[in-house]
Amino acid sequence: MPSQPAAPFYEVLKENERVTPALSGERYVGYFCTYTPIEIIHAAGFTPFRVAGGLDSVSLADTLTPNFICPYMRVATEKALRGEYGFLSGLVQGYTCDVACGLINIWKDNIGGDPCHLVPLPYNDNEASRDFLRSALKELIEKLDRAGGCFSEERLEHSLSLYDEIRRVILDLYDRRYEGSLPFSAGDFLTVIQAGYVTPPERYLGLLKTLRDEADHEREDGQPPSIPVLVSGSLVEEPRILEIIEESGGRICADDLCTGFRQWSPATGSGARPLDRVIDRHMRRFPCPSRSRARDRAPLIIDLVRRSAARGVIFLFQKFCTPHLADYPILNEELKKERIPATVFEMEETGIMEGQLRTRMETFFETLGERDG
Ligand code: SF4
Repeated sequence: MPSQPAAPFYEVLKENERVTPALSGERYVGYFCTYTPIEIIHAAGFTPFRVAGGLDSVSLADTLTPNFICPYMRVATEKALRGEYGFLSGLVQGYTCDVACGLINIWKDNIGGDPCHLVPLPYNDNEASRDFLRSALKELIEKLDRAGGCFSEERLEHSLSLYDEIRRVILDLYDRRYEGSLPFSAGDFLTVIQAGYVTPPERYLGLLKTLRDEADHEREDGQPPSIPVLVSGSLVEEPRILEIIEESGGRICADDLCTGFRQWSPATGSGARPLDRVIDRHMRRFPCPSRSRARDRAPLIIDLVRRSAARGVIFLFQKFCTPHLADYPILNEELKKERIPATVFEMEETGIMEGQLRTRMETFFETLGERDG
């Protein structure tokens, strides 16, 4: 049952299922991962639409995708082959993990779209890599314009002001989440975020500002005692997973998720021209494991644990998500050095495995309770 402040976001997602987005008059360009420069897509006159996977079985995509890649990508491809993303004009993806990037070519050959484009992203931050990113973004702008786009610097200025403001409002909600004063659950929070993936930013920003005002008036109190934890990992698409964690005795007070904090921080970049700010923000993003080394990520996660007063970390991975699984042993080792307890859970495409998750979480919270209490 959604809480009152989050209800409009559930409605947006339902509306999106009922009415095909093609009838909305918007021209949509899909993307998988938040390293895609959505401000540029928007400034070219398209509405960015984050492609979802979800819980589903895979049959059509079986011949095109190996069964040892993440469920997100397999189910998203299955849906595209069924025609569920037929309203997308094209697909743009910033170079992150090999699976997401390999899938661009599979979509290009089997689903189509214009543009179907992979944006190469540098790994280091220096003058040469910023120049490289600038030329990669210019190439994207040319492709979007050739596909009927209308990019201009003024339009990018406007798009950035919208997305920066969205990120500021959401980070403000994160601050309240650290304090435990958000009047809605982690499942509701994920739904609030997911509604933004399918909604034009102009409308989404209005909904978010109303949510923030309502959050001011409905501070949580009188909640049953629960243990604050940070959730880290790849993308979580099912709010139910977060609800089970909270029903098992936890309170998600912070996250390092692909469908969470990683896409919001920092809210903005610096620089005189709008493209400079897109580049600067990209370079200073809270990093994903496919873009950074585990030893560099560990102190950032530990800092987030301290900042949010989390008492433990729950790693939630998509099955076969190599970047996250490869980082896990190092992150776990670094957390141990800081005496921060952690547990791990892998998600499948076909079901939530509620019983297994609940048992794992109840045991974890029991251990945390004994340790601290
Ligand atoms: S980072 Fe992991 S979950 Fe995300 S697309 Fe790549 S393999 Fe899938």
